[in-house]
Amino acid sequence: MPTYARTPVAFERGEGAYLFDTEGRRYLDFGAGIAVNALGHAHPKLVSALTEQAAKLWHVSNLYEIPESARLARRLADHSFADRVFFCNSGAEAMEGVIKLARRYHYHAGHPERFRIITCEGSFHGRTLTTLSAAQNPKHIEGFGPITEGFDQVAFGNLNELRAAITPETGAILVEPIQGEGGVREASLEYLKGLRAACDEFDLLLLFDEVQTGMGRTGKLFAYQWSDVAPDAMGLAKGLGGGFPLGAFLATEKAAAGMTAGLHGSTFGGNPLAMAVGNAVLDVLLEDGFMARVDGTAQKLRRGLEELAGRHPLIIDEVRGVGYLIGLHCVVPNGELVGKLLEQGLLTVPAAENVVRLLPPLIIEEAQVEEALGILQRVCAGWAKAA
Ligand SMILES: *Cc1c(COP(=O)(O)O)cnc(C)c1O
Repeated sequence: MPTYARTPVAFERGEGAYLFDTEGRRYLDFGAGIAVNALGHAHPKLVSALTEQAAKLWHVSNLYEIPESARLARRLADHSFADRVFFCNSGAEAMEGVIKLARRYHYHAGHPERFRIITCEGSFHGRTLTTLSAAQNPKHIEGFGPITEGFDQVAFGNLNELRAAITPETGAILVEPIQGEGGVREASLEYLKGLRAACDEFDLLLLFDEVQTGMGRTGKLFAYQWSDVAPDAMGLAKGLGGGFPLGAFLATEKAAAGMTAGLHGSTFGGNPLAMAVGNAVLDVLLEDGFMARVDGTAQKLRRGLEELAGRHPLIIDEVRGVGYLIGLHCVVPNGELVGKLLEQGLLTVPAAENVVRLLPPLIIEEAQVEEALGILQRVCAGWAKAA
């Protein structure tokens, strides 16, 4: 179906931070499949994990024990706030799971009336009916109604408005620590603290959508770890499988108390093939010094981008985001900048609010930072001259 407005370029193979199109042209990939290819393309450890597992066992169903799934769940729990993990196949499914968990938590506690969830303007949680209903983006909803009942939307970042929206039917608050699709809009530390305080005060669950911010994207394994605010549940996907379709939702023991046998399921979720790749991605992210290196290199990129924006304020007037979830707020149309960068061999991704996102794989080195800055500088200088 013609649901995508595709750029007329097709890639044949990838290597690290580079993609090669069917004509043999090389591109520096600062889109990473929309924050998915966390370790770049054809990472040797992922290739061998996948091919070794492919020769042994792909799928058995959740009727049986899957030791690699128990192992990945344990490791994700050990490195986060969570005690419980459920595996699925995409971000939307992960967020559906988070929403179901929140409703079930209050049902289980004897309060089925507390099914409403407060969400934020500008958010994105996926394209299923319920995740669309949570985000309430009119462009995504039009013609797909009626939407799922039970979501109350408030402005992102406004604690007064949020507290005023809490009613006896409210059960949870759902936010992205940094809105990705919404234009790389960061929640302040103060805002996150305020959300946690409101949740503690009114016995609400704090739900984070870390589908885009998670798995090292911001320079820590999870974005919430930059703050001292932990959620009660969160959804992951994108980088989790490094390009293999894999999602998960994680929760504390308390938040997951209502999720008993038979209540939720997924045919493919957590199958041995996905789990082999997921464990291999985590092996690399957890290597000594890996995340510190990401943070350090990301700061160099950030400094270069600030400088670039300073030199070309009529093209880019603001640099947003954390780590490798970066937004260039454009004065020129963002789509045009994405197009010109592509012509010069740099792949980027547009976002709302006229933003161009830079989402490089976490494995880039300083040479690739320099290369990307060089292309950006060339494109901006050429544009300034033409105008
Ligand atoms: C991409 C994304 C989703 C949806 O993930 P899919 O795998 O496309 O279903 C949900 N939430 C956030 C924050 C995302 O960035």
